Amino acid sequence: MKVVYTDALVIGGGLAGLRAAIGLKRRGHDVIVLSLVPAKRSHSAAAQGGMQASLGNSAKGAGDNEDVHFEDTVRGSDWGADQHVVRMFVHTAPKAVRELAHWGVPWNRVRSGDRRAIINGEEVTLTEAPEAHGRITARDFGGTKKWRTSYVSDGTGHSMLYNMSDQAVAREIPVHERMEAMRLIHDGSRCYGAIVRNLTTGELSAYVAQATCIATGGFGRIYRTTTNAVINEGMGAAIALETGVVALGNMEAVQFHPTAIFPAGILVTEGSRGDGGLLLDADQHRFMPDYEPEKRELASRDVVSRRMEEHMAKGRGVETRFGRHLWLDIRLLGREHIEKNLREVNEICRYFLGIDPVKSLIPVRPAQHYSMGGVRTDYRGESPTLAGLFACGEAACWDMHGFNRLGGNSVAETVVAGMIVGEYMADYCDSADSEMQVSTALVREAITAERAKLDQLLDGSGSENAVELQREMQELMTENVGIFRSGDSLQAAVDGLQALLRRSRNVGVQCTANGANPELVAAYRLKRMLKLALCVAAGALARTESRGAHFRDDYPQRNDRDWLNRTLATWPDEQREVPVLNYEELDIMRMELPPGWRGYGASNHIPHPDSEKRAAEIESTLAEREGADRFARQSLLLPFEHLLPEPFRGRNERPGEPLT
Ligand SMILES: Cc1cc2nc3c(=O)[nH]c(=O)nc-3n(C[C@H](O)[C@H](O)[C@H](O)COP(=O)(O)OP(=O)(O)OC[C@H]3O[C@@H](n4cnc5c(N)ncnc54)[C@H](O)[C@@H]3O)c2cc1C
Repeated sequence: MKVVYTDALVIGGGLAGLRAAIGLKRRGHDVIVLSLVPAKRSHSAAAQGGMQASLGNSAKGAGDNEDVHFEDTVRGSDWGADQHVVRMFVHTAPKAVRELAHWGVPWNRVRSGDRRAIINGEEVTLTEAPEAHGRITARDFGGTKKWRTSYVSDGTGHSMLYNMSDQAVAREIPVHERMEAMRLIHDGSRCYGAIVRNLTTGELSAYVAQATCIATGGFGRIYRTTTNAVINEGMGAAIALETGVVALGNMEAVQFHPTAIFPAGILVTEGSRGDGGLLLDADQHRFMPDYEPEKRELASRDVVSRRMEEHMAKGRGVETRFGRHLWLDIRLLGREHIEKNLREVNEICRYFLGIDPVKSLIPVRPAQHYSMGGVRTDYRGESPTLAGLFACGEAACWDMHGFNRLGGNSVAETVVAGMIVGEYMADYCDSADSEMQVSTALVREAITAERAKLDQLLDGSGSENAVELQREMQELMTENVGIFRSGDSLQAAVDGLQALLRRSRNVGVQCTANGANPELVAAYRLKRMLKLALCVAAGALARTESRGAHFRDDYPQRNDRDWLNRTLATWPDEQREVPVLNYEELDIMRMELPPGWRGYGASNHIPHPDSEKRAAEIESTLAEREGADRFARQSLLLPFEHLLPEPFRGRNERPGEPLT
């Protein structure tokens, strides 16, 4: 039995995992990062449009600050987010952008003077202040009051990840690539690391660690049409679920991005609409202002996706032999802008559609994009039910996105959560809590159990085909657990997924190689993907309301009276065919921004009985401190700075708010 010992094990070499590892290493701990692919190939590299942080440098960002970012994020989440975590996030995000700039990320910068921009379909002139010249600039994104999204043209994730990966290399952090964590080593109350499979040789080994972090990204591949890469199969969340004690939070909260190219599903960044692109129907009519006159194309993603599907259902989509789509028009931005600021979009259009977006409309339709749900953690990023297990990034439910994440808040979360969770993991490793007496019998048991599962697949007796079952799962999810959901469609999904789970117990492989063997990989991941899909579908079936990206035709109202809570899914017994669902209440009396109208469509939610009480309490608290500055007033409502690691507590400097 090969055993590798380390202080901390980070499963995932994307932005979140690498940043957590850097924090641990800086604090003097040995850390190993695992990745399915070379770290620079992690999915973070695909992020195009940008990263939100309230720097307030550009003309249209003037007046931005943490309070505005906080309000946008909570409204965006449809009040599903943990407001303490949102506060921690918005406070740290400017520090994260600046740290990356310091490390060499070539953020686009403000140029003083007049410049041309397209806003609401019209050309306008913006004047940037001379004192802002050279500072990090921002573009507009959906659901935000200010232009807050810092960017590197439309290759933001690529720049960030390459930089982060180079930082990890410079600090001599080992990244063990093409290594897959297959199972967490645990005794039901304490995590001791993971059993890991070498994807090239097939060898299993045990990585024993004081602290383990899951940073494995999203699980978009449980859907047929997704903007996610093929490695986004959610294996980190799945192995956490398989412990039986770790809960996955809000798995039914799945984001659909409005503009994936049709029919391939490759993303065209929200930055295209942020920079002035428009959505048109089959008659080339700009339809979003008809539905959302104020925010138009830049309403929150869940809202735009629903409006697009609704519009197509009225017969206004473009009919093709592959199905229906709408158009994204970025022609009005002009060649220079597209070739400079939207160069990936330009390439995607040329290579995958064979069109020139400077001259042609881009066919688009919403596609699965982001997983708000994931491994439930507390504000430190630790699992409340399995000591020594942490999670960050898209794999986690920390939970700052609630039921809908704002564009640009995800790469920001990866870095911010990596910073914060890395510090808390280091504290954990420094504390007596991390002391462990792990029995080699426990490690051996875990490795033997995993070996037995692989051998069973390799013995060739199973008759089901994993790739075929996976395709059926993806169809079921796309057809029944999509943008619009209903009791009937969700029940059909749960029934269908359960049948697939039963069939998955009889999966076999034709290629019996123990080493590099994609068929074997698909076979052992299938059951885990099905469990995740069941958490999504069963959670959605149980949640009889509409909130953020979770929209039920049969329960179209947000229901704060009965559903102001977070879903917790566990899988305590391998023989089960559905997860156990529990709920964690969101405490309205501790909210800085109590639930209200989100700003889209009619205000028709069912209020929480304590909504008015909390609003009145806030009003009287603030009235007592009339004239105090915004920091003092804010901290009366929701103190959060004590929750942050000490190095991140300081204030952020921005135009009009110098540090004294
Ligand atoms: C096309 C696209 C564009 C996007 N654009 C933006 C944007 O502009 N702004 C924004 O804020 N967000 C954007 N997002 C979302 C954002 O990019 C992701 O949410 C974020 O980058 C996820 O980072 P991560 O570190 O959590 O995970 P990832 O970057 O996905 O990394 C996951 C890591 O885990 C490893 N891994 C997985 N399973 C295992 C396992 N079992 N064992 C070992 N290793 C494992 C992988 O190899 C990888 O290294 C976009 C997403 C997509 C799909």
